[in-house]
Amino acid sequence: MSEDKNVNLASENTEETVFADLNISSEIMRAVDDMGFKTPSHIQAKGIPAVLSGRDVIGHSQTGTGKTAAFGIPAIEKIDPELKGKTQVLIMCPTRELAQQVAAQMRNFSKYKQGTGIVCVYGGQSIELQINALKRSPEVVIGTPGRIMDHLRRRTLKLANLQMIILDEADEMLNMGFRDDIETVLKEVPSERQTLLFSATMSPEIMAITKNYQKDPVIIKVVRKELVLPNIKQFLYDIPRGTKMEVLCRLIDYYNPKRSMIFCNTKKMVEELSEKLRNRGYFAETLHGDMKQFARNAVMESFKKGRIDMLIATDVAARGLDIDHVEYVINYDLPQDMEFYVHRIGRTGRAGRSGTSLTLITGNKEFAQVRDLERFTKQKLELAPIPTLAEVEGARAARIALDIEQTIENGLLEKHKGIVASLMEKEINPEDIAAGVLKMLFASDVEYIAGGEDSIKKEEVRIWRSRQKHKSGDKGGVFVNPRGPRVRLMFNVGKKDRVAAGNFVGAIAGETGLPGKNIRSIEIFESYSFVEVPKDMADIIISKLTGLKMKGKRLKVEKVKMDIKK
Ligand code: ADP
Ligand code: MG
Repeated sequence: MSEDKNVNLASENTEETVFADLNISSEIMRAVDDMGFKTPSHIQAKGIPAVLSGRDVIGHSQTGTGKTAAFGIPAIEKIDPELKGKTQVLIMCPTRELAQQVAAQMRNFSKYKQGTGIVCVYGGQSIELQINALKRSPEVVIGTPGRIMDHLRRRTLKLANLQMIILDEADEMLNMGFRDDIETVLKEVPSERQTLLFSATMSPEIMAITKNYQKDPVIIKVVRKELVLPNIKQFLYDIPRGTKMEVLCRLIDYYNPKRSMIFCNTKKMVEELSEKLRNRGYFAETLHGDMKQFARNAVMESFKKGRIDMLIATDVAARGLDIDHVEYVINYDLPQDMEFYVHRIGRTGRAGRSGTSLTLITGNKEFAQVRDLERFTKQKLELAPIPTLAEVEGARAARIALDIEQTIENGLLEKHKGIVASLMEKEINPEDIAAGVLKMLFASDVEYIAGGEDSIKKEEVRIWRSRQKHKSGDKGGVFVNPRGPRVRLMFNVGKKDRVAAGNFVGAIAGETGLPGKNIRSIEIFESYSFVEVPKDMADIIISKLTGLKMKGKRLKVEKVKMDIKK
């Protein structure tokens, strides 16, 4: 990867334009400053002047590049005071949530422009309420196509003075089947108007709309080789059939994300998964199209405010939502459409932050789909080993230890020390007391089959081996260069565990498919052993063998620092 891929909104603006260069009023400058925007993104630097000059605009850039401000700022700027009380700007958005989000940003931009009326209309909210709001003659109306149509039919929305119409996330609106509604509205608005179209992707359908309804549009395209924001780490988990739920729980416990979104392909799956997670003691809220509007709003609000840390959603419900700091996007189902993948993982890594996506797949068909996806995004997903039970427990123990240290640091322990003192009077030693408390803490967590066999790990290894064969076309196992660089691995078993060289060869060859002749220089000491393996294989050997049992002992495997020179 090259250096320039560390994208953030500011660095996208290559000519170093600042907002002050864009001829915007002091009121909006102040508002933009309040919002913490320092420099305009590329689409803003190019889009704002074009819209201000009165031209029609096509803005083509991926999610999270600041399209809202690119049309929102000049739209507010161009409101004509002489037409006060007349609807001058109409913005169409694909979903209720997006419409509300755009409305919120528009209110922010206009907060120092006294008396700019902004009303948001969408299905699911009482139409009377909206009719009343529209009676107050807002200059800006934002809404979903269906509800806008509804108000036009009822004549509660009048567009005779419309100066500007904006199609936001046009591709999504078309995907959702709003083409007829959009065209009806476009035909109904005055022909002397500005038409702006913003979209993350362009399709022949969109081009047809721009051809029929825009006049000599300025095309602003933010080109980037990668579709996916490059500051997102993308991990792939190849999961044994029937263990997806278990693996999901392991991943949640292992990564312990502060804020995550889990995507499923259907509403039914969203509900099922939330139910299952709840049964296992996790709390996750849901977001999908069958939910009542107020419930969706409540969930969004809680998620934004951090009262909920896990949100399970369908693609449509989560489209384009601008939620800050989503650390992890988990694809519980592989998306049916590659564009969906881009949108999903675009929920993390917003505005230049880093993020991680975890994609769960099962079976050859999905494995092949991921290959297609990689070709589409021109980025690789990194095949990651499923965390072993030992690793999950380790991660959890480390977090608990950290919490304890923090609690001690924060002080105010007198009352608790009293309890400890009374226990010590009974001659229970402090170590046992502390361990007892920890056991109580652990007991409330989800229990893994403690000490049991890690069957998922075993099955994963089998799958991994067959994939490896598939890739190298070598039926005999993994191909490695016998003269390539090598490293030494240290195992936590030795003579006292009665291990022999054959145990190491058997375990490594068996678990990874590495031919035995590549496993050399086995040295067995009292309580540990060294084994030399090809460097390329070291990580996979470590991940496959750690946590497995050898002679009844759970293995720990580490690289010995120094490489072996030949
Ligand atoms: P898009 O519509 O292209 O997906 P948004 O307009 O929703 O993108 O913007 C994405 C996020 O970036 C929002 O949180 C927005 O407040 C923020 N943002 C937009 N422009 C800037 C800017 N110039 N500087 C900093 N943050 C910005
Ligand atoms: Mg947008």
